[in-house]
Amino acid sequence: MTFDIVTIFPAMIAQALAAGVLGRAIERGLLNVTVRDLRDFTTDRHRVVDDVPYGGGPGMVLKPDPIFRALDAIELERGERGRPSAVILTSPQGARFTQADAKRLSGLESVVVLCGRYEGVDERVRERVTEELSIGDYVLTGGELPALVIVDAVARNVPGVVGDEDSVTHDSFSRGLLDFPQFTRPQEITTRHAGVAGVRGGGQVLSVPDVLLSGNHAEIRRWRKREALARTLARRPDLLVGATLDEEEREILLELQKEEGRMKKLEAQKVGE
Ligand code: SAM
Repeated sequence: MTFDIVTIFPAMIAQALAAGVLGRAIERGLLNVTVRDLRDFTTDRHRVVDDVPYGGGPGMVLKPDPIFRALDAIELERGERGRPSAVILTSPQGARFTQADAKRLSGLESVVVLCGRYEGVDERVRERVTEELSIGDYVLTGGELPALVIVDAVARNVPGVVGDEDSVTHDSFSRGLLDFPQFTRPQEITTRHAGVAGVRGGGQVLSVPDVLLSGNHAEIRRWRKREALARTLARRPDLLVGATLDEEEREILLELQKEEGRMKKLEAQKVGE
């Protein structure tokens, strides 16, 4: 899969992509990422990419012409492969980027990501954009971090990028559920600092749940399903509406919802006393 990232801070992107799973995937040729410096597509001596907004107001706006030239250059290089499959504009005004988008985009052959800066990009750039994506309801100084978030989340879904594909299918959101809790060695750990799990002075022993040490794979599988469902119900019940659950998970969810109902009743009784 091919990514082209257009930015005025190419070093910011290149450095982040060199590390870890993505770095290895690039080395192995599973991902082909080209970082384009927007200033290379200017025509003036000072390589100016921004200008004041028409109508006045604070800040600067990224000019449309260098962005258009960057997109033209990408298309030209692609030759017979034609236009890129998607041209994404990073923007706090875009649709919220989700795991479903990451999965969908991972099926495309080529994706261009445009990083805004300052007050954003000239509105006419949107003519060349196929989708506008936001990584959340907050405003960052530039589109580089959102571009990295998008490329990272999409790339994890490209076959072969994550060594064990099972880890992608178990990830939070992949089936509309949060992931179950994970534990590793040591089997027991004693907290020494105040503040951990509300313990003052430390000395509390934190153990790995017995079921995970039991070697009973059927029990472990059921425990994990129950934990994933309980977490989702407690933290993100909205996800359960679109979740794909098997028979056993539907049963567990029903049990959990009944338990939750009983707890709420008990709490209401206590308040009434
Ligand atoms: N004035 C713009 C607005 O209110 O919509 C915000 C511009 S922001 C300071 C500069 C650039 O950062 C944007 O053009 C976009 O590329 C990027 N950006 C900031 N927040 C973002 C978010 N939540 N998701 C995606 N991109 C974001």
